[in-house]
Amino acid sequence: MNLLEKSLVELSTLIKNKEIKPSQVVETFVERTEKFDTKIRAYVTHLLEQALEEAKEKDEKLSKLENIPDLFGIPIAVKDNISTKGIRTTCSSKMLENYLPPYDATVVEKLKQADYILIGKTNLDEFAMGSSTENSAFFTTKNPWDLERVPGGSSGGSAASVAAGLVPAALGSDTGGSIRQPAALCGIVGLKPTYGRVSRYGLVAFASSLDQIGPMTRYVEDSALLLNIISGYDKRDSTSENIEVPDFLEEIKKDIKGLKVGIPKEFFTKDLDSSIKEKVFDGIKLLEKEGISVEEISLPNAVYAIEAYYIIAPSEASSNLARYDGVRYGYRAKEYKDLDEMYSKTRDEGFGAEVKRRIMLGTYSLSSGYYDAYYLKAQKVRTLIYRDFMSAFKDVDAIITPTTPDTAFKIGEKSSNPIQMYLSDIFTVSINLATLPGISIPCGFKDGLPVGMQIIGKPFDESTILRLAYRYQQLTDFHKQIPNID
Ligand code: GLN
Repeated sequence: MNLLEKSLVELSTLIKNKEIKPSQVVETFVERTEKFDTKIRAYVTHLLEQALEEAKEKDEKLSKLENIPDLFGIPIAVKDNISTKGIRTTCSSKMLENYLPPYDATVVEKLKQADYILIGKTNLDEFAMGSSTENSAFFTTKNPWDLERVPGGSSGGSAASVAAGLVPAALGSDTGGSIRQPAALCGIVGLKPTYGRVSRYGLVAFASSLDQIGPMTRYVEDSALLLNIISGYDKRDSTSENIEVPDFLEEIKKDIKGLKVGIPKEFFTKDLDSSIKEKVFDGIKLLEKEGISVEEISLPNAVYAIEAYYIIAPSEASSNLARYDGVRYGYRAKEYKDLDEMYSKTRDEGFGAEVKRRIMLGTYSLSSGYYDAYYLKAQKVRTLIYRDFMSAFKDVDAIITPTTPDTAFKIGEKSSNPIQMYLSDIFTVSINLATLPGISIPCGFKDGLPVGMQIIGKPFDESTILRLAYRYQQLTDFHKQIPNID
């Protein structure tokens, strides 16, 4: 039995039926990680030894247990901006290089309750700011489909580890596309839940009104299973919503016949790469054969999403990152004359160029005199974008777009041009601004590199997008392909 090919749901069933042991599963993925992660570099911290030990303990327990939790003995990777008690959580920043959180994020607590095994913490763009993992203070993760290319970002480590088969699933975070864009570039499934669906407690804050944690997997059913586990109200996150969590694993099985899908004309302009357009339309046609209907819609303000996002996200970041001052925790400069110099040297040495750029952009937009012209204006645009989506959702159940304007780019290709880099998120940021759920699923290959299709849903209607995505995966096998890394 090749465990690498199994979905999380299948692994879970095999363990529950006591047909395989946790140590068999963990050994399989540990072996593969030892073999390939020197090339991919998906992890900031490996916990391989610890994972093997935990698996052995779980082997013992398994024989005695009657009710076996869903993730019993299954290895999962967690993005390194999600707090893990006593385990280094760096945000891929020099600022937090040696930071050991004194508590677990709520999502990690929930994974622990489901008896998962943490196999490592994955690389990201520093503080989740970027689209390629090139902004990591440590190293760049490689795309398993082509080691000269980026895996996308900021959850590039999580995406690459799942795509390379180093782990069956990982958690990422998405502020403007950081789950969906790397999922598309690595050919896996990435889900950004509705804002408020999953607790942000313990997620290191980048832009608090946009950040969400979500699952990164190869199979849609695994995304549904993980969403079941990590969702739910948390009184420690004041923005988490006290709303019922459906059983997404049941929801995905429902028929898609009769669903109405909108195709926003602003996302399919003549500038869009023709093969990306073709693959996404092939996907839509396939779903049409299954009984969905399709209509063109308009989201007129979506064209301003990048501009609004790059005012709002840096503004919030500049405020959130004020805490790294060398006093409380994290890095502190070694030499300084006085307190002021300690602050400035700490921040100068501890943060990388992109983080500094965002802090400067943000403090500028928030400063008196510019606040109305930039921050307030961007907030108004955000409201207009939200209203566009809400009015479209009066007619349609979901919206389909490409996830990214192109496939994975070469390492170094965009790193000296921030605007080019920011445009990687042109199709994903509006969804965060509008607080909506969005999923990216593999829908084909262009010159051997994966292409992603994005399905966007109404607030708290992850069920419908997962349902469409699940049906799509039953009809295709793009997600089953594993890159040849040797
Ligand atoms: N690439 C976007 C940015 O750099 C989105 C990042 C994210 O979603 N964390 O801000």
